[in-house]
Amino acid sequence: MKSWDTIIIGAGIIGLSLAIELRKAGMSVLVIEKGEPGREASWAAGGMLADFGLEIPAPLQALARASARMYPEFVHELEDESGLKIDLRSEGTLFFPDSKQDHALQESHPLPASLAKLEPAFRASDRLPLYVQERCVDPRHLTAAAIAAARHRGIDFSSGDPARAIEIRDGKAAVVRTDRTQFAAAIVVNCAGAWAGQIRPHAFPTRPVKGQMLCVAMPEKDLVSHVVRSSDVYLIPRSDGRLVIGATQEEAGFDKQTVPETLQKLRKAALDLIPKLADARILEAWAGLRPGTPDKLPILGETATPGYFVATGHFRDGILLAPITGRIMRQVITGQQPEFDLNAFAAERFRT
Ligand SMILES: Cc1cc2nc3c(=O)[nH]c(=O)nc-3n(C[C@H](O)[C@H](O)[C@H](O)COP(=O)(O)OP(=O)(O)OC[C@H]3O[C@@H](n4cnc5c(N)ncnc54)[C@H](O)[C@@H]3O)c2cc1C
Repeated sequence: MKSWDTIIIGAGIIGLSLAIELRKAGMSVLVIEKGEPGREASWAAGGMLADFGLEIPAPLQALARASARMYPEFVHELEDESGLKIDLRSEGTLFFPDSKQDHALQESHPLPASLAKLEPAFRASDRLPLYVQERCVDPRHLTAAAIAAARHRGIDFSSGDPARAIEIRDGKAAVVRTDRTQFAAAIVVNCAGAWAGQIRPHAFPTRPVKGQMLCVAMPEKDLVSHVVRSSDVYLIPRSDGRLVIGATQEEAGFDKQTVPETLQKLRKAALDLIPKLADARILEAWAGLRPGTPDKLPILGETATPGYFVATGHFRDGILLAPITGRIMRQVITGQQPEFDLNAFAAERFRT
């Protein structure tokens, strides 16, 4: 049986960023993917790097801020190693908070110019957004570059064959059994996203939270230049003139079908903000499965089985959290003190 220092299950952005970190630390790494690398949640995401406090659960805020700070370097390194370009934008976000209670926030996050100047295509309204200095990234560019960078660094991949179980020998993780074969490693990390709970022996309580989105071609390339976030819809411009409009949050099991009426609602909410989008051609619609957990926090760190680790459950923020997750999981796995307290994210919290 072939063996590696580490096996990572799941070639989404979390598994990939950790694989690269561990390879940099000198380990041999195999990534096992049930389908095609990078084609699940990490492909479906919008790519907002939304570290602004309101929507991130409190225990996650320090990690979110640290990860947002790491992004320019993270992207730069992946571009360098893959030879691929990643669309990372720093124009900032216009954020429409839900209620009037956010008056104080308005003062602490003023618009740098009038709304008419920042986004001339906006429908005139008496609601003013906050300005937040968040970046956004094209997640498909990001995962494609991470896959290429991983290959370039000599990380091995097994694709199209799901991991089913971790075999434990002498009380430690030793072998990963797939449908077709088995691979050996002293360290195994479950990064299987919404499917993480399906691999034996531990049933992590992850579940899929479906998100439908669509993408249009802006009638003028820079019709929208900021990310726009409101309670009904968000808009994420790409530098090539596409605009991503998202997203639903649905409990629909592992279903990834799009529903025309639902997409119409998202499009209508976008038109309410930017009437000129009525002329925008729809390029694509899709749905993806966010890895959700009961308390909306990720599951990070060791498990009850020595040698078996987990990094999943990043829900709505896995693109944002990929760089910091790779780094802190590398620290845990190589026996260093992680730079953040990971107690709130321990797999143990779900053991009854
Ligand atoms: C519509 C939508 C919009 C989003 N927008 C944003 C956003 O703006 N910003 C942000 O930060 N995040 C966003 N997210 C969340 C983000 O996409 C996820 O948190 C992140 O991609 C999770 O990464 P992952 O690697 O854990 O999961 P995934 O990308 O799903 O990767 C898990 C991988 O594991 C593989 N796998 C599963 N089971 C097995 C098995 N048994 N054996 C082998 N392989 C297996 C899967 O095939 C998959 O490739 C969004 C998600 C969705 C769906």
